[in-house]
Amino acid sequence: MKVSRTRTAAHRSPYDSRNAEITRLANNLYQKGCFPGGSGSISLVVNRSPFRILITPSSFKKFEKGDGLLIDQCGVPVRSAGEKISGEVKTHIAIYEKIMDASCVIHPHSLNSLLTADRSGSEVIFKGFEVLKAFGIKEKDGSLKIPIIDNTYDKDERARMVTEALLQGSPAVIIRRHGMFVYGKSMDEARQRTELLEFLMEYNLRETAKSV
Ligand SMILES: [Zn+2]
Repeated sequence: MKVSRTRTAAHRSPYDSRNAEITRLANNLYQKGCFPGGSGSISLVVNRSPFRILITPSSFKKFEKGDGLLIDQCGVPVRSAGEKISGEVKTHIAIYEKIMDASCVIHPHSLNSLLTADRSGSEVIFKGFEVLKAFGIKEKDGSLKIPIIDNTYDKDERARMVTEALLQGSPAVIIRRHGMFVYGKSMDEARQRTELLEFLMEYNLRETAKSV
């Protein structure tokens, strides 16, 4: 039974508004190709102590209002909506544990990130773009380096590798044949970073295609 559909005003959870935000963002990024087949995930911190995050469920349910899962530090649902937990939950939690100012994590499975990784070594560098100001890069010739790591199906190992890469100071990490993890101090910042990285990767890919 879908609890969210039948919930009355008196029974609304204090997390409902955050759920609505995360659902809107998921739908928006889905339209931009970030969540093919309903894959990928978004989470946000609703409380640091006790630790609570909202995370989108796996599959297309993430695009339905009120279906976010409230998770504790161990990845266990505090309030079950009966939906399947994303297999990426360990990585989301690890990012919040290691990067204290992270409050939103977006994990797109975008085509741009896959193609970029296929055509790159251990990193991709964006240099001289005006939009890099959004990443705190103010110099005209400043550059942004995004690390690229190999994929693994070991969830603990993936969480370790992703956080290790982010702790180098990058706002994002690309995982080969998988996608990307991006974090922000707020949902707006995580969204902005995601959209701009998608834009920069697409620019590079189109530019490369043009010159072949
Ligand atoms: Zn994934």
